[in-house]
Formats: sequence, structure tokens, C-alpha cells
Amino acid sequence: MLNIVIFGAPGSGKGTQSERIVEKYGLNHISTGDVLRAEIKNGTELGKTAKGYIDQGQLLPDELIIDILASTLDSFKDSKGVIFDGFPRTIAQAEALKKMLADRNQAVSVMLDLDVPEEELMKRLILRGQQSGRADDNEETIKKRLVVYHSQTAPLIDWYKSEGLYAHINGLGDLETITGEICAAIDKVK
Ligand code: ADP
Repeated sequence: MLNIVIFGAPGSGKGTQSERIVEKYGLNHISTGDVLRAEIKNGTELGKTAKGYIDQGQLLPDELIIDILASTLDSFKDSKGVIFDGFPRTIAQAEALKKMLADRNQAVSVMLDLDVPEEELMKRLILRGQQSGRADDNEETIKKRLVVYHSQTAPLIDWYKSEGLYAHINGLGDLETITGEICAAIDKVK
């Protein structure tokens, strides 16, 4: 089974590329951001809690998001594999994912790091905010999310390198070229 972690800063294109990979390889897709936005839309208790963090550009507490991830994972039946988009975002989450998969006799196959320069991330997120109206895509919150990314999430690059699972992807350029680079990295571990 393929278990792919798609990784990168906010605006790096994780969601867009995930959709393409899901289609090509027939995988299940877990986007923690999408799960939380659906909860907010449905006005659930979890949604209310999540909104507080998301609007501040902060991460949800690890225990909460790890529980959500475990139950989403268990809802997949006869899966060919999973693409994890937006999870893990902290070392504690990466360790939890490793354990969660090991308990199911599985492991992460590869971590794809979509690398995009900071000025480009800002541009993309501001544009996305104008087009989609996503509440956390405003300049002030974007800046906070990038700070959180650098302090809490970027350390996962070295963590996955030491696990021997890291693959660098140039996230700048046209969508097809980036997808091509991603598929080459996946085919290597398939
Ligand atoms: P981005 O474009 O910032 O990568 P996402 O849609 O993946 O956006 O996530 C939006 C927000 O949801 C994050 O800023 C964070 O508040 C929350 N969130 C998503 N995934 C996680 C996670 N794994 N741990 C904690 N919080 C998360």
C-alpha cells in the first residue's frame, strides 16, 4: 500500500497536486484542512473549536487532530493507499502517524516536499483569498501561518530525511511539470 505524505508551506499546492495524484493512482485522500472546513460549515462542536485556531493562523492541538486523522483513516475500506495532505504538521503528529500506520502493519512510503519560495506563497494565498473567500487567506493571517510553518512544521523536513523518506519537489513552474516530478518520486517507491 502506498502511503504518501504531501508536504509544504501554505500555498505550496498540496491540495491541487493531491487531486491529480489521487486520480492517477486511485488513492484515498485525507486533507485535514478540508475536514476542518467541512466541520465549520456544518456548525459542529469540533468546527467551532477549529475555527478559533484557524482564524488565528494557529494549529489545532496535536491530540485533537491525531484523533480526527485516525477515525478518517479507519473509514477507508480496501484502500490502495492514502495521500496525507496537511498532516503531519508537527513532529508529534509525524510520530503519531508512524505509530498509527505501524499498528496497521503499514508505513509511510515517501514524503514529498513541495518547495516554493516565500514571495510566491504570499502571492498565491492572497489571490486565493480574493477568489475563494477563504477566511484565513488574508495578509495578516497568512503571515502568521507562515511563521507557524517555519517554527512548527518545517522541522519535519529533517525528521523525514532521517527516516530516509524525504523527496524534494520543485513546486515552482507549471502544474504538469510539478505533477511529473511527483509521479517520478512515487514510482520510485511503488
Ligand atoms: P494551508 O493552505 O494553510 O496548508 P490547510 O487547508 O491545510 O491550509 O489548513 C488550514 C488550517 O487548518 C491550518 O492553518 C490549521 O489551523 C488547521 N490544520 C490543518 N491541518 C492541521 C494539522 N495537521 N494540525 C493542526 N492544525 C491543522
